[in-house]
Amino acid sequence: MNHQSIGEVTETPTAWAGDARTASCRFCGTALRHTFVDLGMSPLCESYVSLEKLNSMEAFYPLHVQVCENCYLVQLQEYVSREEIFTDYAYLSSYSDSWLQHASNYADQMVSRFGFDKRSFVVELASNDGYLLQYFVRKGIPCLGIEPAINVARVALEKGVPTLAKFFGEQTARELATEGKVADLMLANNALAQVPDVNDFVKGMKILLAPRGVVTVEFPHLMRLMEENQFDTIYHEHFSYFSFLTSEKIFEAQGLTLFDVEELPTHGGSLRIYARHAEDDSKPVSPRVTELRQREIAAGFTEIATYSDFAEQVKKTKRKLLEFLISVKREGKKVAGYGAPGKGNTLLNYCGIRCDFLEYTVDRSPYKQGKFLPGTHIPIFHPDKIRETKPDYVLILPWNLKEEIRQQLSYVREWGGRLVVPIPTVEVLA
Ligand SMILES: [Zn+2]
Repeated sequence: MNHQSIGEVTETPTAWAGDARTASCRFCGTALRHTFVDLGMSPLCESYVSLEKLNSMEAFYPLHVQVCENCYLVQLQEYVSREEIFTDYAYLSSYSDSWLQHASNYADQMVSRFGFDKRSFVVELASNDGYLLQYFVRKGIPCLGIEPAINVARVALEKGVPTLAKFFGEQTARELATEGKVADLMLANNALAQVPDVNDFVKGMKILLAPRGVVTVEFPHLMRLMEENQFDTIYHEHFSYFSFLTSEKIFEAQGLTLFDVEELPTHGGSLRIYARHAEDDSKPVSPRVTELRQREIAAGFTEIATYSDFAEQVKKTKRKLLEFLISVKREGKKVAGYGAPGKGNTLLNYCGIRCDFLEYTVDRSPYKQGKFLPGTHIPIFHPDKIRETKPDYVLILPWNLKEEIRQQLSYVREWGGRLVVPIPTVEVLA
């Protein structure tokens, strides 16, 4: 068990890294001229506000998403430096039951498909609180998590998951490779979207990957985001939004070939891509790769107009949600929220929904309870608050966990309460 130590992030923080005049594609460098969607100004969606800071100023940054006309990478500029975002990041994955199940299934699946064992080495990039690597630890497979948020890395170490508190990229990969470390399995779940320099990140993967190693990367699928209006998954921490076609180009540019892809239901519809060294011919390219590539081309993902149409769809979704809230408030109904996820904050800020519509929200994470949502200052309570106050409607903000939450909240029917989801379009659940 090496690397049971916490490193400090040494890069100098920069207050504001973006410049509207010189925006260029983070993958191919082409000047960005096309808007995908502009969600206005919003605070960092994980910056929950404490009671002491409730009367202080709050920083708002643009949520203006652009699309590159050359490689079709949908992207946000680095309006906020990653140090500012990640040094005290509130998101601890372990609080969602379905996400833990997903992680456990993943570990089983990788071991049965590729035969990893005690001689293998598994590296997870942006390993969070060790929610996933704990399943490899239980199987006795050596592993290492790399996690930039120091407070989160500390939680992983306490659980017995070896973790290095660092940003991952070419430099970190070289340092590990110099120590003789190469990864038989390297994974990054919902991390690729969160790195400002995707080329540096993927180059690091190439360096740290064993000659016959496998990389798996999961990210929300842009095709599903657009089909299902998931504009609330856009936030400052998510710099990039990938189609399969664009992700393939980014890996190819670093000498990595995508040899398989799976479509997963997580986060509203994600892709899990499988990469290997271009020169590793032990793993043939699956027909699923060709099929998805064709499907995206047929859906217009290589035409700029397809992307430009998205903005209008988002405005319609906002109007429908507001219409619903205005009509139930006119009837004198009480509306509460469930969950305080990042996506909820994008939605509420963009739609201008504050305590006037949503009296409060609840969350299972003790870290968030007692705090207030960024921007809207809606208070966050323990989930028991719902039973105490018996609201007429409960708006489920993490709609991607709709089924799980629906079961947890089945008791609201006792007083005739109803559950509502805002996305893909506002819907009162039966
Ligand atoms: Zn580009």
